Amino acid sequence: MLTTKIIWQRLLGLLPGEVTLNETRWLIRPCLHMPLMEQRRVRMIVNRVRLFATLFAALTPLWIIVDVLTLPFPLWLQLAILRLLATIAFGTLVMWHPQDGRLATAYQGMATLFAIPTLFYLISHLLLSHHQLQGISAAIGTGYAFLPFVLLAGFAIFPLTLFETLTFSAPVLCAYALALMFNWEEVSWPSFGGQFWLLFLLTGVASLASMSQLAFIIALVNQAIHDPLTGTFSRRSGEEMLNLHLSFARRNNSPFTVAFLDIDHFKSINDRFGHEFGDRVLQQLTQTVTHCLRRGDIVVRWGGEEFLLLLNNTDLHQAAHALERLRQHGLGMHPDGRQITASIGIAERIADGTDDWKVLVEKADTRMYLAKQGGRDRLVFEG
Ligand code: GH3
Ligand code: MG
Ligand code: MG
Repeated sequence: MLTTKIIWQRLLGLLPGEVTLNETRWLIRPCLHMPLMEQRRVRMIVNRVRLFATLFAALTPLWIIVDVLTLPFPLWLQLAILRLLATIAFGTLVMWHPQDGRLATAYQGMATLFAIPTLFYLISHLLLSHHQLQGISAAIGTGYAFLPFVLLAGFAIFPLTLFETLTFSAPVLCAYALALMFNWEEVSWPSFGGQFWLLFLLTGVASLASMSQLAFIIALVNQAIHDPLTGTFSRRSGEEMLNLHLSFARRNNSPFTVAFLDIDHFKSINDRFGHEFGDRVLQQLTQTVTHCLRRGDIVVRWGGEEFLLLLNNTDLHQAAHALERLRQHGLGMHPDGRQITASIGIAERIADGTDDWKVLVEKADTRMYLAKQGGRDRLVFEG
């Protein structure tokens, strides 16, 4: 029992230190990634696809000179045409690949990027198999066989999950096996076995490199989007969340409510009990709010003691009900036993007729001020 525990702890220690145990699931499969994390990852993949395609577009035609000098005619001409076609394909990818920030677009870019050299490899292998090359020509011809190794190593520069790297590398491995079918009789099986094993090892190393890149993105995004004191979303990521969720609600024509919560007389809490106690009040309050709301609801620290609550798929009536329940539950206690209270203003996209997050937040803010003017410790959803 103790041994199992020790082994388990050792294994957990091997995980990249930047991610929690729960987040390691994100390194395996692409589902359940946070939208903000996903957006950054997609941007990174698309940028690297374009970088890789630019490099290939520049280097592929350069090698024509070496082929012309070393390979017999018409082989060098056939390979030169193939190289020019590949260059046009890479160039098209660089110029025309959309950058709309969706995962499907990133996948499309990667699939195209790796399909071009894989096809190039298969066709060049077919052309070369018709020639018996000697000396330097044979050496240049053998160079073409290394392309799958370069491609598999190339996965290491993308932030991918294990599942994604394996899916994208499978066609490259299949192409390598398929190319052997072209000259089946001449295959040296022990050498083929060794090369294939090397390709598998490369895939394994590239997967690890891709996953550790992803782990760094997760850690960086986590740091960038969260408020260090309360662990809620920071204002900047809150703005991105508002944008994202509002456009989602608009597409589905579903309600979306924003609540503006401001703690009452917070300055006097600081003044009477100290800044550290004030900090603890903020932490306790966010824990309570997160606990009382639904899982999909989002808490954003908008300012010092001001929070925005983003309630998906919730109309004004349902939001008022949920927030009233939160108020009844209590937001925390002063050391002297008095309740900590807050003034809350709410606004909803359909009821208030707006899909602009700034207008929605402004309306919620105005209503929060009405709650203050009305005597604090209350909820306002009109006016
Ligand atoms: P009202 O009921 O009108 O909202 O009064 P208030 O005192 O809550 O509002 P006011 O805007 O006058 O004061 C907000 C205070 O919040 C002032 C500031 O020192 C404090 N504050 C802002 N950020 C933090 C923080 O991170 N920690 C602590 N402890 N206090 C903070
Ligand atoms: Mg305030
Ligand atoms: Mg306040």
